Amino acid sequence: MPEYRTVSRVIEPQMVIEGAGVRLRRSFGPSRANQFDPFLLFDHFAFNDPIEGPITGFPTHPHRGIETVTYMLEGNVRHRDSLGNTGVIGPGAVQWMTSGRGILHEELPKRGPNGVVNGFQLWVNLPAALKMSPPRYQEIDAGEIPEIDQNGVRLRLIAGSFDGHTGSATEIAAQPLYMDVSLEPAAEVELPIPSGRTAIAYIFEGEGLFGARQDGAGEFIESVRMAVFSDGERLRVQTGPGRHVRFVLMSGTPFKEPVVPYGPFVMNTEEEIRQVFEDIKNGTFAQGSAI
Ligand code: MN
Repeated sequence: MPEYRTVSRVIEPQMVIEGAGVRLRRSFGPSRANQFDPFLLFDHFAFNDPIEGPITGFPTHPHRGIETVTYMLEGNVRHRDSLGNTGVIGPGAVQWMTSGRGILHEELPKRGPNGVVNGFQLWVNLPAALKMSPPRYQEIDAGEIPEIDQNGVRLRLIAGSFDGHTGSATEIAAQPLYMDVSLEPAAEVELPIPSGRTAIAYIFEGEGLFGARQDGAGEFIESVRMAVFSDGERLRVQTGPGRHVRFVLMSGTPFKEPVVPYGPFVMNTEEEIRQVFEDIKNGTFAQGSAI
């Protein structure tokens, strides 16, 4: 097993329209090929132009079989669900939502003081044994996320562990590492990622050298791009003089199970997708009243 992970692929996010006309940069979405197992989708909602008009958001919609992870940088997302949960995901905060067998919710982004909404939604798969588990929320305020500052590197640890610190979201089946990493100019970091885990990074500010080995080879990547890494035990990231970089790093244990996605549902078989529609028809999809 090579010690250092290298860049195996660079993805250019594509503009897509979701919800009630929300423009997103999508790096990948759910597919049977399941190339990013245990991750199913990564969207960047960046409404940086106030002339785009009002943001319509994502009116009531269901989920089954997955976890949706919302991490906001600017602006906020107001959410409401069929179990009676309501809340606001503000700047720097995270909502780790485990849909399990089913929830119905709405997600409404709102601009921050600068007229900007900036944030991410990651979908993490659930293994077959947990797809029909009860829904669960982890609401994590910005101030609750451990921040590690060392040698020109700032890490916000959303999930997983790093250097003796433990991230805020816990007991996730995919055993994810999810961190927001900023490097000042001329800085360097080595991130341990156990071998066998999928590892991807979404570079959203600046530029850096990713996946260098000890001999100095590596790939220079500018924002806004997703990088997919080869297997290995650690990942090196470096910045040049006068250049900073900021990215979210995600890693998780692949479930290696068949994936059958259908819109906001991701199950293991077509029969289970048919069951979703049966349950909706029979009113047994989600607990609680509709919203
Ligand atoms: Mn949703």
